[in-house]
Amino acid sequence: MSRTPIVVGNWKLHKGIADALALATEVKNQLSALRDVEVGIAPVFTALHAVGKRLDGCPVALVAQDCFWQEQGAWTGEVAPSLLADVGCRYVIVGHSERRQHFGELDAAVGLKARAVLAAGLAPILCVGETDRERDANETFARLRAQLAGALADVPAADAERIVVAYEPVWAIGTGRSATPAQAQEVHAFLRAELRDRFGDVAAKMRLQYGGSVKPENAAELLSMPDIDGALVGGAALEAAKFVAIARAARRA
Ligand code: PEP
Repeated sequence: MSRTPIVVGNWKLHKGIADALALATEVKNQLSALRDVEVGIAPVFTALHAVGKRLDGCPVALVAQDCFWQEQGAWTGEVAPSLLADVGCRYVIVGHSERRQHFGELDAAVGLKARAVLAAGLAPILCVGETDRERDANETFARLRAQLAGALADVPAADAERIVVAYEPVWAIGTGRSATPAQAQEVHAFLRAELRDRFGDVAAKMRLQYGGSVKPENAAELLSMPDIDGALVGGAALEAAKFVAIARAARRA
């Protein structure tokens, strides 16, 4: 089953409009012609509109880092998926571990967000991952199973192909300590089997990203694993040269 790899840069809380435009322009110039890899960038909310205009007509996808699940109403400070579609987003990250850890986001809320993203015609990038305590306690698979169950409850199989699942072990995010290719592949194979149980054959078409200290030095090996279909990149996505090298490493032989 051939799946187009997808590499997304999560810029987190970095780069105002001027800096975001400068980085987006470099990514656009260097990666627009890249074939057989989908590339996306996720600036802060306030830069989405400007960056979206800069990317207009180019294959690099605009990605939002989060959203709310309601369409409108008295929800001060929130942003609905349809508004993200309005500024040109194609993907929305949901359930990033920083949202879970610092903002108390639970699996059920992640599920509401994922379904709202799908309803708006966008594609969720659903982040899942265990902490180091959970890995040490042999709870990795149970935690991932619970995260998938919470986020994907009531999602019909017809929508599944649009969903990207990002496996991001919490202990690897921003730490410089990546999962080994074998560790990551083991989890990705588990996730795909879980997705097959839930959605059937469509699971073979779903893309599973690895995230957690991906850099040019380890990208090729991680991305050569059979169930790793791309990367969600944090720190290294803030430098054009590193992000471009990672995206190029995603090309399948
Ligand atoms: C992330 O924030 O999704 C991430 C993977 O960060 P880093 O690449 O810096 O570990």
